[in-house]
Amino acid sequence: VEGALRQAQKMEAVGQLTGGIAHDFNNLLGVVLGNLELLSTRLPEDSRLRRYVDRAIEGTERGAVLTQRMLAFARRQDLKLEPVDVTSLVRGMADLLARSIGSTIKMELRFPARLTSAQVDANQLEMALLNLVVNARDAMPKGGTIVISGREEVLGPGNPQTLTEGRYVVLAVSDTGVGMDAATLTRAAEPFFTTKPVGKGTGLGLAMVHGLAAQAGGTLRIDSEPGHGTTVELWLPQAVGEAEAAPVPAMAHRETSI
Ligand code: ADP
Repeated sequence: VEGALRQAQKMEAVGQLTGGIAHDFNNLLGVVLGNLELLSTRLPEDSRLRRYVDRAIEGTERGAVLTQRMLAFARRQDLKLEPVDVTSLVRGMADLLARSIGSTIKMELRFPARLTSAQVDANQLEMALLNLVVNARDAMPKGGTIVISGREEVLGPGNPQTLTEGRYVVLAVSDTGVGMDAATLTRAAEPFFTTKPVGKGTGLGLAMVHGLAAQAGGTLRIDSEPGHGTTVELWLPQAVGEAEAAPVPAMAHRETSI
């Protein structure tokens, strides 16, 4: 309990801090990016100067993605909980995910024919999934397999997860990577905890994923075996009145058709 409290306090402090900084930084990056793009279009396409500018644009864009992530992490009160068809969301991201993991890693999607919707913020869930997949990739420098799966669980009272009893949609990301030792596992979701080199890890990924799950009324579960791999599960409450609902086919309709 003390650990959870410390975690909550840290999250609060980090949220306020990152929110303020990320907001200003994001605006400044916008100015830099806008001017670089202007400059780029004025330079001949295959000139050396153009390449320099385009590389600067790439770096700035990466910086912008990072600040967006920090903003989303801090902006917790703006969370929009709505019924989300997790299967469609994952399928809609499959190309993007495949591109971010490279060619030495295989990716498999395993979803049942019907999976009820989860009550969650769709944009945040997309970012959470990207975080989990990037973590899985980083854990497999020699290649391997990532399995993204979905299932339903019903929890009774007094369940070991200490969640409210009811129905949950579980989104799981498994990898066959290096795994985590016990010390890493206990601290993995702590804000700013990272074992990655400076510039590669922020230590905010799992903290953000955990924050999202907790605010949706769910939780994060991590199982890991050093040398064998890791499974991270996002437990999300099933959307209200979803038990009998038909699956929603198109991602574009996920906000309106439920
Ligand atoms: P970051 O990825 O920036 O380090 P995270 O909060 O996402 O931040 O992860 C924290 C740490 O947890 C990582 O540095 C790594 O040590 C460990 N970790 C997370 N996901 C995995 C995974 N799939 N396999 C092995 N270790 C992991």
